[in-house]
Amino acid sequence: MISPVATGIYAGLGAVAGAGLAVGAYSYASLWPGSQIFGKALTAPKRLGELALTFDDGPNAEWTPRLLDVLAKHEVRATFFLLGSHAETQPELVRRIAAAEHLIGNHSWDHPNMARSGAGVIREELQRTQKVLEQITGTRVKFFRPPYGARRPVVFRIARELGLKVVTSNAMTSDWSEPSAERIAERLAKKIERLRKRGQAANIVLHDGGHGDPSANRAPSVAAAEAIIQKYKSTRRFVTLDAWS
Ligand SMILES: [Zn+2]
Repeated sequence: MISPVATGIYAGLGAVAGAGLAVGAYSYASLWPGSQIFGKALTAPKRLGELALTFDDGPNAEWTPRLLDVLAKHEVRATFFLLGSHAETQPELVRRIAAAEHLIGNHSWDHPNMARSGAGVIREELQRTQKVLEQITGTRVKFFRPPYGARRPVVFRIARELGLKVVTSNAMTSDWSEPSAERIAERLAKKIERLRKRGQAANIVLHDGGHGDPSANRAPSVAAAEAIIQKYKSTRRFVTLDAWS
């Protein structure tokens, strides 16, 4: 289950996806993954054949280990945008992600909508998460994906001051509310193909945790990740986001 607020935000994204970015849609522009009007974010470069698998809202005691097993089995490295509040309670899992040479990014402390948060809250969310992740892994964290993709100039400014590059995505589907792994993988594959036609790499988002409900079922997301890997592993190159910065 995700919160009603989250549902509204995601529904808003869906509406924009369907209608295109309408004039005056200021609040949507701060959420729409492709929008660059509030600052320059890392999405994906024009690099044919490259795919970045990224996972948000973990670490999760049940699903992250299963996902790590899938990635290890196929020798694929991915990027994990972790919530500080989840990382703090599961440091062993964070260490396991890092030990497998996946890239770890900051996804805030507890997933607020930063289109509506004050500067003090944004700074605290980023800094606190940064500190926990760096203490656990001993490695500098360089990337930040805002919850819901929400961006405003102040988000970019604070991220920059903390040495963080803001990351969006260009291949996402509602994996958090979709019970069918096949449909998730199918929808992502369609987006990946569209991007390929434009010569664009794919920055793919899936969820290995639930920000509002840590017991949310992420089996479909994990299975969809494996389906995407199986479909593309002989013809494409899976990269972590540091390959693009
Ligand atoms: Zn998230």
